[in-house]
Amino acid sequence: MTSLVIAEHDNASIKSATLNTVTAALACGGDVHVLVAGENASAAAQAAAQIAGVSKVIHADGASLKDGLAENIAAQVLAIASNYSHILFPATASGKNAAPRVAAKLDVAQISDITKVDSADTFERPIYAGNAIATVQSSDKIKVITVRGTGFDAAATTGGSAQVEQLAAAGDNGKSSFVGREVTKNDRPELTAAKIIVSGGRALGSSEKFQEVITPLADKLGAAIGASRAAVDAGYAPNDLQVGQTGKIVAPQLYIALGISGAIQHLAGMKDSKVIVAINKDPEAPIFSVADYGLEADLFQAVPELVQAL
Ligand SMILES: Cc1cc2nc3c(=O)[nH]c(=O)nc-3n(C[C@H](O)[C@H](O)[C@H](O)COP(=O)(O)OP(=O)(O)OC[C@H]3O[C@@H](n4cnc5c(N)ncnc54)[C@H](O)[C@@H]3O)c2cc1C
Repeated sequence: MTSLVIAEHDNASIKSATLNTVTAALACGGDVHVLVAGENASAAAQAAAQIAGVSKVIHADGASLKDGLAENIAAQVLAIASNYSHILFPATASGKNAAPRVAAKLDVAQISDITKVDSADTFERPIYAGNAIATVQSSDKIKVITVRGTGFDAAATTGGSAQVEQLAAAGDNGKSSFVGREVTKNDRPELTAAKIIVSGGRALGSSEKFQEVITPLADKLGAAIGASRAAVDAGYAPNDLQVGQTGKIVAPQLYIALGISGAIQHLAGMKDSKVIVAINKDPEAPIFSVADYGLEADLFQAVPELVQAL
């Protein structure tokens, strides 16, 4: 039994979601291989070879893999899929783009967003916005899985010494082409990897106020900034900051929710945070039911005071 982890990378380094996926693959039992599919991605392949627990890195390199187009990544995975009992992708935007293509072509049922491996064929995954956990057993010969990063610790980035095997890149299948990429420049930690997140909700009232109130606190704490969907929909914060069922799933050491009511769709994205702090002027706000520390206060007064005190 051997598992294949599809690495998320930027050709130079391995992204952290890959590390959680390796831990999930190790829990499935057997050997763990990592596929690094990219162009000029030797550095990423070498980094993957250092990950603790990985026994082999398969490095497919070619122009068709440069931009991580889901169709070409899926074709690359399918070229070697029959060697594996489990194929695991991080449940990130790119993992969720490629995995269903692989599952469909293999004619197997994808097992999505797992948070626990009970055994080699049985997995746990949240349903109903995290209000229930489904235990899913699969009898498919190859199990195609997406892994929720917050459910698994990150594998160590050092300690491994896997061999790196070169593989010819699958050609461009021509179904899609790369047009461009607009990358948000951000000096802050990436939301899903941040240890501290300061999140703002509808209560902020405008993008100016969102910046004025949230940014100084995030700066003081070296935190990433998040937002509720209401804040995003109102244009107070950009879309990629949304935390929740239809946003990002996070589990930092500290999550500070400011003027966020705590709707189940928001809780679905952050309730596994280690320590939750909420500031809300409504004592009945549902966010207080998951908060370790709650402050019933007007955030426009409390947050500047907190920044001052820090
Ligand atoms: C299919 C679906 C998917 C969804 N996905 C998501 C998702 O991914 N993420 C998400 O966040 N939501 C999601 N939602 C929306 C969700 O249901 C809520 O509408 C949203 O989370 C509310 O955002 P909010 O808490 O900022 O706003 P509100 O619910 O309006 O809460 C604002 C809070 O601020 C408090 N407040 C107001 N003024 C102050 C003040 N001066 N000081 C302190 N507190 C104050 C109020 O007491 C209130 O509790 C989804 C909904 C659906 C139907």
